Amino acid sequence: EGRWSLAGSTALVTGGSKGIGHAIVEELAGLGARVHTCSRNAAELEECRRQWEGKNLRVTVSVCDVSVRAEREKLMDTVKRTLGGKLDILVNNAGQSMVKAATECTGEDYALVMATNIESCFHLEQLAHPLLLRSAGGGASSVVHISSIAGFVGFPGLAVYSMTKGAMNQLTRSLAAEWAGDGIRVNCVAPGGINTDVAKDMKLLNNGVFAMCVEQITRDPEIVKSQATQLPMQRLGETEEVASVVAFLCMPAASYITGQVICVDGGRTI
Ligand code: NDP
Repeated sequence: EGRWSLAGSTALVTGGSKGIGHAIVEELAGLGARVHTCSRNAAELEECRRQWEGKNLRVTVSVCDVSVRAEREKLMDTVKRTLGGKLDILVNNAGQSMVKAATECTGEDYALVMATNIESCFHLEQLAHPLLLRSAGGGASSVVHISSIAGFVGFPGLAVYSMTKGAMNQLTRSLAAEWAGDGIRVNCVAPGGINTDVAKDMKLLNNGVFAMCVEQITRDPEIVKSQATQLPMQRLGETEEVASVVAFLCMPAASYITGQVICVDGGRTI
């Protein structure tokens, strides 16, 4: 197929009912991929499916809580059946934010964020490997992680969340090295503040400033000021601005790119 197309590809995108995942589903399907997605809410998923059908996008859905091992296994069985045993693209997007002072995180908080953000990612990749192999000739199959700039930069109140994102960044490099010989590319997109529910949880202002740290954790107005000067583009990103980079990484046009973490962050980490 074409170098700038995903026609004929199959894809699994986790967490596609809202936010960044929703935009990724639309972007990949719009470029010709057949996409399966999941979330925990059946009614919301069905509403999305109906809307996608109305736009002539080929998308199937099923409920899965990615933090639960048995549900991940069930998801991959469903994907195998629905997409004909072949997977070209896996996008691990579903994630859980948690804004809390480190001293206040409970064992349950820690376990939930780890299971949702990083254990799910690793296990889904183990499960997907045989399906990815079936389409892997010449680097044709591709895994994309959605991590965060919180995996590079220290933000107060986000320690556990940021640990999972730093781990995703490293998993990108490790699996890219391990699976290059299998023809599977592994890359990662690390968004800065993007206009979604997660941004609201984190109390990101429209100019991208991370206000939560003052209000809840440090109570220091100087930190707000320093945050503002650290975001060159001075605005939140939109979900489509992340989805386009994910789509590019999955295309034949990106066939020599593997093990990379690309920040889509308005310049926050430069
Ligand atoms: P949203 O809350 O807007 O959407 C999250 C999606 O994932 C929803 O479809 C949600 O559906 C699903 N989801 C959440 N938890 C689970 C679960 N346990 N099992 C299955 N599905 C789940 O979040 P964003 O779009 O903002 O975030 C997407 C990814 O991007 C996350 O990994 C996040 O960490 C990352 N990110 C976001 C940034 C931002 O500023 N928005 C910045 C950097 C990274 P449901 O809740 O119904 O299950």
